[in-house]
Amino acid sequence: MPDTIFTKIINREIPADIVHEDDLCLAFKDINPQAPVHLLIIPKKAIATINDIASEDREVVGHLFTTAAKIAKDMGFAEDGYRVVMNCNKNGGQEVYHIHLHLLAGKRLGWPPYREI
Ligand code: 5GP
Repeated sequence: MPDTIFTKIINREIPADIVHEDDLCLAFKDINPQAPVHLLIIPKKAIATINDIASEDREVVGHLFTTAAKIAKDMGFAEDGYRVVMNCNKNGGQEVYHIHLHLLAGKRLGWPPYREI
């Protein structure tokens, strides 16, 4: 799988506003935020899409969600609420082929989340 921009962020080859890092994942601010808080939580292991998640990746993928909840508590919006989203492939709106959770918070988010394009 070719390197994506997210591998470059992990390797500090391009800058990002990083809010969390541990052995398995990195969280940083989205460059084009869609809510007052818009973070991306990515595994350090490069997995292209949800379709490429293997059973051996269960720990790391589960860790993305527990990290989202930890960040929500640490940043003080866990009780007000937030949304986590992972897009898959073209129809899901995926642009970067390194799986990532979008963590959106800071306002009442609209539902359903889609619009015709
Ligand atoms: P996707 O559409 O793949 O689910 O989401 C990709 C997200 O990555 C988009 O929300 C986009 O704004 C964000 N993004 C793309 N390039 C960069 C970058 O270089 N830095 C940061 N921080 N975010 C990026």
